[in-house]
Amino acid sequence: MGAAVLLASCGDDNDQGSVVNAQVVEYVSPIDYDIVLAGNFGEPRPWHFHGGLDIKTGNVEGKKVFSIAEGYVSRITVNKYGFGNAIYVSHPDGLTSVYCHLKRFAEPYEQLFQRTGWRDTLDFRYPEGQLPVKAGDLIAISGNTGHSTGPHLHLELHDTRTWVMRDPMMKLAPYIADSVAPQAHSFMAVPQQGEGLFNGGSTKQTFGFGQPDVKKQHTEWTLSRQFTAWGRVGFALWADDYSEATYNHYGIRHTALLVDGREVFSVDVDSIPVSCQPEVNNWGDYTHWRRTRIWYMKSYRELGMRLPILHTDFNRGIVNFNEERPYNLTYILRDYQGNVARYHFVVQGQRDSRIQPSERSMRQVPCRMLLDDYLLYGQLLWPLYCSKAAATSF
Ligand SMILES: [Zn+2]
Repeated sequence: MGAAVLLASCGDDNDQGSVVNAQVVEYVSPIDYDIVLAGNFGEPRPWHFHGGLDIKTGNVEGKKVFSIAEGYVSRITVNKYGFGNAIYVSHPDGLTSVYCHLKRFAEPYEQLFQRTGWRDTLDFRYPEGQLPVKAGDLIAISGNTGHSTGPHLHLELHDTRTWVMRDPMMKLAPYIADSVAPQAHSFMAVPQQGEGLFNGGSTKQTFGFGQPDVKKQHTEWTLSRQFTAWGRVGFALWADDYSEATYNHYGIRHTALLVDGREVFSVDVDSIPVSCQPEVNNWGDYTHWRRTRIWYMKSYRELGMRLPILHTDFNRGIVNFNEERPYNLTYILRDYQGNVARYHFVVQGQRDSRIQPSERSMRQVPCRMLLDDYLLYGQLLWPLYCSKAAATSF
């Protein structure tokens, strides 16, 4: 039923499933020393996700920057703001890498244009064939230009055709050491207004998992504390990823919430359509961030949320506590290198006369269709669409 056409998104640039040319392209490191990250792809920030990797350059400018793959220089920009000096290389596999905050470009490119002053705003595009590069070719010298708070290399990877932002880790992971699992600091329970209670309360509440100890490599945590809930409650998580190389912390690539072993929510921050950038404020608890500078990322989908990387069950990831029994909740966090951490806690379903939860047993469809499609096409079509997926699981 033409499902691909139905996929709702933030805008026309969403094309997560776009088939990139089958051509296999070899990727290399953009620097000639070990990659240490100051920031990773998809980290939540107010109004946007971090669009690439922040690669450390030893707190100095002047490091050599190499093209991470063959292709051709397709664009050069010079700006006092934003990316500063930036060079774009388009690769034959349908991806474009972007190197930002550069001090200057390598000789052949620097000579392509005349700078007139520090206020320059230049933007040149070059066709295929004019400026070919090989993997590992010197293309620029690192710097601290544009919107940058210190010398580093900001590297982005985009789908050339749709400009959807992709996680550069998918190509550069072999060059980045990381054996440290992500760590969750605490979770937030979000009783849905008039529909749910958590620990007897109707407001959002946070509960710590204990102090994270990166060095001890705790990857399995179980909260001994018992919680109670009745009705519909959403959850959100404050978590960070780490690596052994530095004190910096990163965003979480993959998060899943399981209830009694069944996945109700998952997200894999592997790509983000540029027009979805502001959705970070909906996925994350922006109000809480403004007050505390801490991002709790929701494990459910707000109505109208159009971020295509979020996947939920029929209930949008919101847990419906409508039976008096223990519910076993588990968060699974995974980084790109496969390091995993699990957090378990038990919530006792405890009847409360203030809330009348829906007794209707919502069909728990293991369907990865987006909720927006469900809203668009109605409840009736949902089971039809999902029955194929369900048939194999039940
Ligand atoms: Zn950056």
